Amino acid sequence: MKINHFSGGFFFDSSTNKLKELFKVHQKDIAYFEPQKVVIPFDQHIGAPNELIVKVGDFVTKGEIIAKSSADISGHVHTSITGQVIDICDVPALGGGKQTAAVIQHIPSKNHLESLIDENLSSETKVRAAGIVGLGGATFPTHVKLNPADHIDVQTIILNGAECEPFIASDDFLMQKESRKILRGGEIAREILAAKQILIGIEEDKPKAIAAMKNAAIEIDNCHVVCLPVKYPQGGEGQLLETLLRAESPLEGRSVETGAFTINVATAFAIAESVDERKSLTHRYVTICGDVKTPQVICFPLGTQVKDLINYCGGFVGTPSRIIHGGPMMGKSVTDLSLPLTKASNGIIVFNEAHDGKLPESPCIRCNRCVEVCPVRLEPQNIDLAYRSGDLFTCDQLLATACINCGCCTYVCPAKRNLAATITKASSEIKAQKEAQEDGK
Ligand code: SF4
Ligand code: SF4
Repeated sequence: MKINHFSGGFFFDSSTNKLKELFKVHQKDIAYFEPQKVVIPFDQHIGAPNELIVKVGDFVTKGEIIAKSSADISGHVHTSITGQVIDICDVPALGGGKQTAAVIQHIPSKNHLESLIDENLSSETKVRAAGIVGLGGATFPTHVKLNPADHIDVQTIILNGAECEPFIASDDFLMQKESRKILRGGEIAREILAAKQILIGIEEDKPKAIAAMKNAAIEIDNCHVVCLPVKYPQGGEGQLLETLLRAESPLEGRSVETGAFTINVATAFAIAESVDERKSLTHRYVTICGDVKTPQVICFPLGTQVKDLINYCGGFVGTPSRIIHGGPMMGKSVTDLSLPLTKASNGIIVFNEAHDGKLPESPCIRCNRCVEVCPVRLEPQNIDLAYRSGDLFTCDQLLATACINCGCCTYVCPAKRNLAATITKASSEIKAQKEAQEDGK
C-alpha cells in the first residue's frame, strides 16, 4: 500500500538513537507482576467523574466495578485484584496534586477468581461494562467512540501500532504476544461500525511485531499491516490518518468524521477480551526502562504503584535525575514514587544524571525550526512568547488549543525553550476561560 508522509515531524538525531539502543528492553516473555496492594484512582478517563460504590471493609473480586457514573461519557473502574478495601484516601496524581483512590489489599480466594461481564450484553455494551478507554493515552471512553453520529459512514478501522515515543515497547510486545486478540478487537469494531477494511500501522523498527501481526492478518478478510517510517510523531492519530488515508482530522470535532475509526492496539486487545472472554479492563502492559537494573515490559494490575514496579525491576542504576510517566516527548515527570499507574500508563522511563540531557533555556533566535516540525502547522515560538507575556488572546488567535502536545518544537529548539509546556498551559487556560464563559451565560 502506498503511503503519504504527514506534515512536520522529524527523525530522531544520533544521540537519541544511541540512547534508544542503550535503553532497549531485551526479554523473551512478558513479566507478570501481582502486588499485595493496589491503589486505584476512581477516575481514569476523560468525561464525567465516577462515584465510588464500595466502602472500607468490603471484599471485592477482581473485575468487579468499584466506581462508575451513569453519564454517557464516562468509564467504569474495576478492582484489578481480589481482596479487601482497606482505605479510601487522597493519593498523588500525575502532574502534581491529588486524586482519590481505593486502596485494596490482596486476599487469596479460591472461590472468587474473577468477576465477569454479563454474557447476554451486546458487544458495544460489554465494551462499556469493561471500562475500556483509549489506551494510547487519550483515555476517551471507547463505547462512545464506537457510537458515532448517524451521518458518519465509517469505512476503515485503523489499529495504531506505531508507538513512536522513544524507549517504550509496550505495544511492540503486545503485538508480538497477542496479535490474534488485537485483530479480533479490530474485527469486533468493524462489525459494530459496519466498516469495510482494517489497517494496522506499525513503525518499521518493530520487525517482530510486524511479522506477528502479518501472520495473524492472513486469516482475516480485507485486513492489512502497513509498515511506516520511523518518524516522530507517527503514532499521533492525525498523523496516522494523514499517512494511511491522506485524511485530515477536523480542528474541532472528532477524527471519526474522516470515515476512519482509529484505536490503539492495546484498546483493540481490551475490546476482544471484554467481548469474547467477558473480562473488564484490569491489567495492561507497561515498559519500565532507562536507568533501572532490569528494564522490562510488565503486565501489571491497574493501581500498582511506581515504587513497586521499580523494585520489581531491581531498583535504580545510579541516582535518578528525572523519572517520566509516558514517553520522553509527551510524558510527565513523576515527583512521588507512590503514584499509582492507571489505564493511561504505558511507560516509566528513568534517567540518571549521566543520561538526563537537560540544558538551561536561552532567548529565541528566530530560527523557525519549531514551525517547520509542528505537525499541526502552528507557530510555537509566537504562542510561547505571547503566553510568557500573559497575552492569552493572541495565544487563542494563534490556535494554541489545536496543539497535540507532541513535543516536536521543544526537541528541535536550539535555544532549549520548553515550548510544548507553555503551549499546553496556554491551551488549558484558554479552554478553562471559554468553559467559564459558557457557564456564565
Ligand atoms: S507541541 Fe504543539 S506546538 Fe509544538 S510541535 Fe507539537 S503540536 Fe506543534
Ligand atoms: S526553534 Fe526555538 S529558537 Fe528557533 S524559532 Fe523556535 S523558539 Fe525560537
